[in-house]
Amino acid sequence: MSLALGDGAEPGAIRDRDQNARTVPSDTVIGLIDVAIVGAGTAGLAALREVRKHTEDFLLVHDGPLGTTCARVGCMPSKALVAAANAFHTGGKLETFGIRGGDKLTADIPAVLRRVRALRDQFVAGVLEATQELGSRIAAGKARLNGQNRLIVGRQTIEARQIVLAPGSSPIVPEPLRALGDRILTSDTLFEQDDLPRRIGVIGLGAIGVEIAQALARIGVEVHAFDGAARIAGLSDEKVARKASGFLAREFAIQLGVEVELADTDGCIEIRSGDNRVRVDKVVAAMGRRPNIAGLGLETLGAPLDKRGMPEVDPQTMRIGDTAVLLAGDANGDRPLLHEASDEGHIAGLNATSSKPISLSRRTPLAVVFSDPEIAVVGRRLSELDLDQSLVGEADFASQGRARIMQENRGLLRIYAARRNGRLLGAEMAAPAAEHIAHLLALAIGQNLSVHELLRMPFYHPTLEEGLRRALRQIARDLPPCSISDLAGCGPLNIESLE
Ligand SMILES: Cc1cc2nc3c(=O)[nH]c(=O)nc-3n(C[C@H](O)[C@H](O)[C@H](O)COP(=O)(O)OP(=O)(O)OC[C@H]3O[C@@H](n4cnc5c(N)ncnc54)[C@H](O)[C@@H]3O)c2cc1C
Repeated sequence: MSLALGDGAEPGAIRDRDQNARTVPSDTVIGLIDVAIVGAGTAGLAALREVRKHTEDFLLVHDGPLGTTCARVGCMPSKALVAAANAFHTGGKLETFGIRGGDKLTADIPAVLRRVRALRDQFVAGVLEATQELGSRIAAGKARLNGQNRLIVGRQTIEARQIVLAPGSSPIVPEPLRALGDRILTSDTLFEQDDLPRRIGVIGLGAIGVEIAQALARIGVEVHAFDGAARIAGLSDEKVARKASGFLAREFAIQLGVEVELADTDGCIEIRSGDNRVRVDKVVAAMGRRPNIAGLGLETLGAPLDKRGMPEVDPQTMRIGDTAVLLAGDANGDRPLLHEASDEGHIAGLNATSSKPISLSRRTPLAVVFSDPEIAVVGRRLSELDLDQSLVGEADFASQGRARIMQENRGLLRIYAARRNGRLLGAEMAAPAAEHIAHLLALAIGQNLSVHELLRMPFYHPTLEEGLRRALRQIARDLPPCSISDLAGCGPLNIESLE
């Protein structure tokens, strides 16, 4: 990185794109570098990896603790908590297998949380290693755009040919909840707790709320969960959503389609929804995440902004209009998932260092919620389909052989295919091993496979994937039959154990 002043300008001055030198209110001007990246999260680091293939003349500007949202407060600690909760929950099922003593197990919640943090620290350490060697090419501070080739960071101005913005997102905590101080938890603070209170409210049952609510309930917290929507975890298929919330409601109290108010009452938080009142000790606000674009200076780009202040971003190049600025990861609000943030950083990095636009096709949509049973959405959601042109096949796991053996026989998988040619379009599910079934389907959808083509692959016995085959066969019944010499036409025996 060049720390010299831009193009021989006077101290305290930088050059506009029209080459007029003008004074800027800063102590230092760094310019003109090839690429500035804002945010050392997954998207920022993925962009950096691509940028470094072409230039070492870059600056990574980062506000807040390093380590990425995923490793520090997101995917990894949440899954560590879920894993502990599920391990404990298994104790309650042991009796069914003829194994005694499971009911004597106890959850040492402080120890559970210590393990979550210990694992978290290991994951974060791995990220820190990746940024350590950057030396002066990583700067701390909150960056703000000042036109399309300039960033302001504190009293410093950075001029860059290309700017990749990857500032991530933050939990939404509405103002009235903030008044309750540290009794309002978010995914940023939950894993930092030394212990947990007896009763916790969870407001919001998207992916994060569902995982946290079930995990807390499974380690012995009395959980009361609420959501304003009628369907949980981003599901659009009413049948799957109803099943999913039904399973969860056996473990903790759920109210859907309700507005809640919180009141500070007798040292507790009272959650009010209609006539219903419930008292809890703390509340986890899981009401979604907001892109970190406030104060980012996007308005200085001159590109049109929507109501939220968000510019239009080309999802195949990550570029904002024809500016020198790219917006990647959670910050653009499009696909707030880890693998998408990584892809978007990659795409932004490629485009920041290429003289011509590089348009990349995006992957088949895939989202997984690590509840039990797992929830997954792959390809197109039911709500995105023309139902007259689509076929739906389903498999209920209540009687599925392998699921029964494992005592995990609950769940519903619904697969959607084109009526015209049997091409797989998407699926929604709340089912055992949904993460794996969803990956298989993503592969099939990505390869543009039809139901018959997928039915041609081997299905081992007894596996949960036989549930997938059941749903596929149901669709196949409504399609023109395949050739007599095609094994895809091999039907079920209709005998449970020989599915
Ligand atoms: C509890 C939880 C569980 C999750 N579980 C999963 C999961 O199981 N699977 C999955 O795919 N996804 C999951 N996610 C989502 C996933 O973590 C995010 O999609 C991903 O981390 C986003 O990466 P990012 O690079 O866009 O942002 P981040 O990693 O947040 O990086 C952005 C960084 O930029 C910094 N920054 C912000 N503003 C500025 C500024 N103006 N100047 C300089 N720096 C700035 C921020 O401090 C931040 O560190 C989960 C998220 C949470 C919160």
